[in-house]
Amino acid sequence: MSTKFVYSFDEGNKEMRGLLGGKGANLAEMTNIGLPVPQGFTITTEACNDYYDNDHKIVDEIIKQIDEKLAQLEKEQGKKLGSDSNPLLVSVRSGAVFSMPGMMDTILNLGLNDTSVKGLIEATKNERFSYDSYRRFIQMFSDVAMEVPKYKFENVLDAYKEKNGYKFDTELTVEDLKGIVEDYKAIYKEAVGEDFPQDPKKQLMLSIEAVFRSWNNPRAIVYRKLNDIPGNLGTAVNIQSMVFGNMGQTSGTGVAFTRNPSTGENRLFGEYLINAQGEDVVAGIRTPQTIDTLKNEMPEIYDEFVKITHILEGHYKDMQDIEFTIENGRLFILQTRNGKRTAQAAINVVVDLVNDGVIDKEEAVMRIEPNQLDQLLHPTFDPKALKGADKLAKGLPASPGAATGRVYFYADDAVQHANAGEKVLLVRQETSPEDIEGMVSAEGILTARGGMTSHAAVVARGMGKCCVAGCGELRVDESSREIRVGDLVIKEGEFMSIDGSSGCVYLGQIPMTSVELSGSFGTFMSWVDEIRDMMVRTNADNPRDAKKAIEFGAEGIGLCRTEHMFFEEDRIPAVRKMILSETVEDRVKALESLLPFQREDFHGIFMAMEGRPCNIRLLDPPLHEFLPHDDASIEALASQMGIRPSELKKRVMDLDEFNPMLGHRGCRLAVTYPEICEMQSRAIAQGAIQAIKDGVDVHPEIMVPLIGTVNELKMLRPIIERCINEEIEKSGVKFDYTVGTMIEIPRACVTADEIAEVADFFSFGTNDLTQMGFGYSRDDAGKFLGEYVDKGILEKDPFQVLDQRGIGRLVEMAVKLGRGQKPELKLGICGEHGGEPSSVEFCYKQGLNYVSCSPFRVPIARLAAAQATVKKSKGNQHRDK
Ligand code: PEP
Ligand code: MG
Repeated sequence: MSTKFVYSFDEGNKEMRGLLGGKGANLAEMTNIGLPVPQGFTITTEACNDYYDNDHKIVDEIIKQIDEKLAQLEKEQGKKLGSDSNPLLVSVRSGAVFSMPGMMDTILNLGLNDTSVKGLIEATKNERFSYDSYRRFIQMFSDVAMEVPKYKFENVLDAYKEKNGYKFDTELTVEDLKGIVEDYKAIYKEAVGEDFPQDPKKQLMLSIEAVFRSWNNPRAIVYRKLNDIPGNLGTAVNIQSMVFGNMGQTSGTGVAFTRNPSTGENRLFGEYLINAQGEDVVAGIRTPQTIDTLKNEMPEIYDEFVKITHILEGHYKDMQDIEFTIENGRLFILQTRNGKRTAQAAINVVVDLVNDGVIDKEEAVMRIEPNQLDQLLHPTFDPKALKGADKLAKGLPASPGAATGRVYFYADDAVQHANAGEKVLLVRQETSPEDIEGMVSAEGILTARGGMTSHAAVVARGMGKCCVAGCGELRVDESSREIRVGDLVIKEGEFMSIDGSSGCVYLGQIPMTSVELSGSFGTFMSWVDEIRDMMVRTNADNPRDAKKAIEFGAEGIGLCRTEHMFFEEDRIPAVRKMILSETVEDRVKALESLLPFQREDFHGIFMAMEGRPCNIRLLDPPLHEFLPHDDASIEALASQMGIRPSELKKRVMDLDEFNPMLGHRGCRLAVTYPEICEMQSRAIAQGAIQAIKDGVDVHPEIMVPLIGTVNELKMLRPIIERCINEEIEKSGVKFDYTVGTMIEIPRACVTADEIAEVADFFSFGTNDLTQMGFGYSRDDAGKFLGEYVDKGILEKDPFQVLDQRGIGRLVEMAVKLGRGQKPELKLGICGEHGGEPSSVEFCYKQGLNYVSCSPFRVPIARLAAAQATVKKSKGNQHRDK
């Protein structure tokens, strides 16, 4: 039997997303549950892939199946495509498996030609509407299917309006529209080189191909890359009979969310336009009315719509984003999907759904994308600074958060200036999918036109970017690159600030503050912690960061990099003296003057951590990092230290290395200068003893960096133990401590069984492990990694997302060897990957005891860990069946 490539809406259901795409599957589902959906059929994602496999050709079998479904649709509707009486018109819309707003193109009113326009007039008795539909179709078809630039058509329309002194499109007369249709056809002929196709079947096939092609247009590719959507899924195509929102004052079209997508408030939220077609709402060209006004204008339709929104939300058990059209007083649902929402709304919605018994806590935890939490953890404007701020205007609060930056009017400029390190605000009349890269680069987005469901608003919310939309008080002149507000002119490159939660727009820069972690966020995170069974620690080098991390839910320190303490102003002179010492005695003396500082550092950290485990790493970086390198700084330091500049320069040169990352660093420093290890061990012990005296429990874990052979640890462990035990004995204050190592050199992974004999714990340093496993210098890889990812040689930057197939196998080997030797061996990770969701899941699968990451990533890691737990338990249930 040949493959089925085309499905009528009544043949599918919501589980068939992979084949029918999200839109197609939901249209089928809505048909099945009896909602008023204009009928049609879906061409599968497999057909799209077949098109690409066959060198951009739709094969005969698929054409045959389309013909069959079209004939069936014509029969059901009692209308014929291209007919001169009561013609069938259809829309052609893309429908990917994962919704890609604004990425793929839509064609409406297909089937209109010089004959069927007459048929439409006869059927509707509405000549104006019929010609208006025809001119819209010519423009959309030309733009989407044939790539004739839109502006050429817009210029014609503007010229008609200007000539006749009209303000709105609705003022165009039948005669105007007839003229416009002719002018549009002429534009088409000139651009494409042949007449506008009159054969509706040809229109249809060209449109279907255009949708297939649009799967690989640059903005779709960018969106997929941004959202981790595989390129081989393909898009489905939905062919749906048209209903018209532009048939007069009893018609209209709109978009509504079942809850507020910015805040999650459980209240219908949407917009509509009377006498308009769907594109008018989404494109943001006319400013729509809020859905509440529909209650007064069309009370019956409003009630029916509200009923349907409840059915849909109950059916999908999630907030829905619904497109509807009213045709001559009859309501139709054109589309439903899970609504895109801000992180704040996402949390509020799942907390409400759990409280209402619609979903359980596990489901709630699985529904939030861990990286989305980032939005909640970022600062807003400092309220004190806001009081004195220079408020210019107010637009729609389209996507919350705050942003300050220099204004740029074109996406390319925004990208360029952001790459040069500037904070950028992208300001546009309205955005379109071509602006996507500029939106990614910008801190925030400000538009003069468009509503809450305009492109800018929808896309910014999805990205978690702050956005103020539809700020009509601003006169944004893109061509002269300036904004006018009253008499004030703001030029490109000047600072503005926007608040996407209030819609306010300010002149200049405004300082930011930190975030609120209580309320539903707190409730949600408490569920995350109930479910999670892997610990989350933080990388922190000072009490301030440690405290912040505890607020974010950290359960200990997984990495305290002690070198950061050495750089502080009051200790750097002693550090330098230590490095420049010629004799062991001099070095010990310099270290003695450093010890009180280190003791205080550790004491502060133990106090901040209030009894939680603290993993403290001995000094790691090469010593020359603490010395100046240019002549002027060397001279200044020499005079400060009372030595000759040439002497200092010689020492700096002695310490110079060709490959510092592979040089004299990590435990190699302690092997050659055991005094450093001694001082740090004593300082840790003294800090711990002081903390105990101050009433705080301590659990220090002393970590040796960069072990490549067990012999290094065999030499250093006794030194650490001797120093700590001596301090314990001296003070009479006892505490338990452990000594372990980082595993960050491939040889350490391969010999992890030997190392485990001497170590109480391993912490995977996946930054160095990635560097040394791939042979990519951490300092230089930035020069080529971007291109490696672009060219598909690497799927992701391995310094951000753990390379599970390669570096991950080294980790796996070390875990097996280490635990094989010592089953109770404690395991953690402290490389950057410890806060990256897919890497956290990997660590969980390996059986690590904890992950450790920067404070701001702690909630993300907690959620990722909880999701890993749920996935595992679901997997087990699966296996049990
Ligand atoms: C690592 O290498 O992963 C690590 C955490 O150490 P650092 O980044 O300090 O080298
Ligand atoms: Mg390292």
